[in-house]
Amino acid sequence: MNIAIIGAGVAGLACAHELEKYNIRATIYEKNSYIGEPISHVSALLELVDRPIVDCLRYIKNEFNIEITPLNTINKIITCSPNKMYEAKGNLGYFIKRGKDADDLKNQLHAQLNNTDIRLGEKVDYQTLSKQYDFVVIANGTPSISKELGCFRELFNGYVRGSVVSGEFDPNTLIAWFDKNYCKDGYAYLTPYNSQKAFIGLVISDINESETEFYWQLFKKAENIDYPVIEKFRINHVAGFVYPYKVKNVLLAGNAAGAIDSFLGFGQLNSIIMGVMAARSIVNGVDYDSLLENIKNKNKQKHQLRKAINKVKNKDYDKAAALIGLPGIKQLIYNTRLDVIKYGADSVEFMNRGK
Ligand SMILES: Cc1cc2nc3c(=O)[nH]c(=O)nc-3n(C[C@H](O)[C@H](O)[C@H](O)COP(=O)(O)OP(=O)(O)OC[C@H]3O[C@@H](n4cnc5c(N)ncnc54)[C@H](O)[C@@H]3O)c2cc1C
Repeated sequence: MNIAIIGAGVAGLACAHELEKYNIRATIYEKNSYIGEPISHVSALLELVDRPIVDCLRYIKNEFNIEITPLNTINKIITCSPNKMYEAKGNLGYFIKRGKDADDLKNQLHAQLNNTDIRLGEKVDYQTLSKQYDFVVIANGTPSISKELGCFRELFNGYVRGSVVSGEFDPNTLIAWFDKNYCKDGYAYLTPYNSQKAFIGLVISDINESETEFYWQLFKKAENIDYPVIEKFRINHVAGFVYPYKVKNVLLAGNAAGAIDSFLGFGQLNSIIMGVMAARSIVNGVDYDSLLENIKNKNKQKHQLRKAINKVKNKDYDKAAALIGLPGIKQLIYNTRLDVIKYGADSVEFMNRGK
């Protein structure tokens, strides 16, 4: 069977890894001359948002035999609303390195491949490939092709402004800020590389690229952030629903298939699962859409939560922070297996109705 994969990213590499288990040597086309992320940052896998999965990395290892070594564990999350702050402690997830180093997520995935044919520096067109190969897996990291195929419905469009900074940080603590004034319906976060270096990201909804800097300055001023900057970037951030996931012999995976949720903009775990499922669908002739049913439903729930949060005002963030900070509630959210995403949308909607 001849299979082409567009993109040596998270979904594409996971797909090739699964195909190798069936002794299928796929060809991956990667437009960059290297494997890795053009921008450096530290991403997160949060236990809270992927329930009922308890430990994402253990899940990936057990289900797909893919081993990912995290940069660090997340043992503390500090959440700041405009006038309140609360802390949660426990086994809260993982920090994952993204960039071009050997311990970056994509390079870790790449190191687990044995005989996949990877063609670097080749930007390809899916229409040409779909005539040459039995199947083409689109894992190009954007919804461009899904849009062209008429499968994409946009839910979030904004920008991420990021900086890698130096300073003093706790390597196990994630900090998140919520304030409508500087991120609208988005949020800001700090994820450390180590005790001397961290990534700070600001996710801002509904803005043009030219407005990004204005909101970044507002954020820095409001939160007193003034670390020396090592690197910086801004990047368009789009999330949406995709349906169907397969058109003729073309399968969509990762961000191309709507892996990124519209709640926090997380998509790594979904991208790995989608890559694997694309391979299984091709090899076993199983309906791809049905293999992705769980991801579709979970992203729908996350979008319900996003829509409910979009309606709240800054003072509601303070109220929510005060509520979540209560010991019993905090325990329930962070240290049980309660499906917070599922019940969260209803709770925020209830709060909105009570105004
Ligand atoms: C700043 C930022 C922070 C993030 N933080 C988190 C986080 O904390 N947690 C989380 O879970 N997710 C996070 N994400 C989302 C996550 O990184 C993505 O969901 C995930 O990487 C998507 O995987 P993918 O395989 O679809 O695309 P990618 O991993 O981006 O790979 C796509 C690949 O396709 C290649 N390509 C594109 N077009 C072509 C072409 N025509 N021909 C050949 N090759 C091509 C690209 O060069 C790239 O290598 C973040 C994303 C960003 C940008």
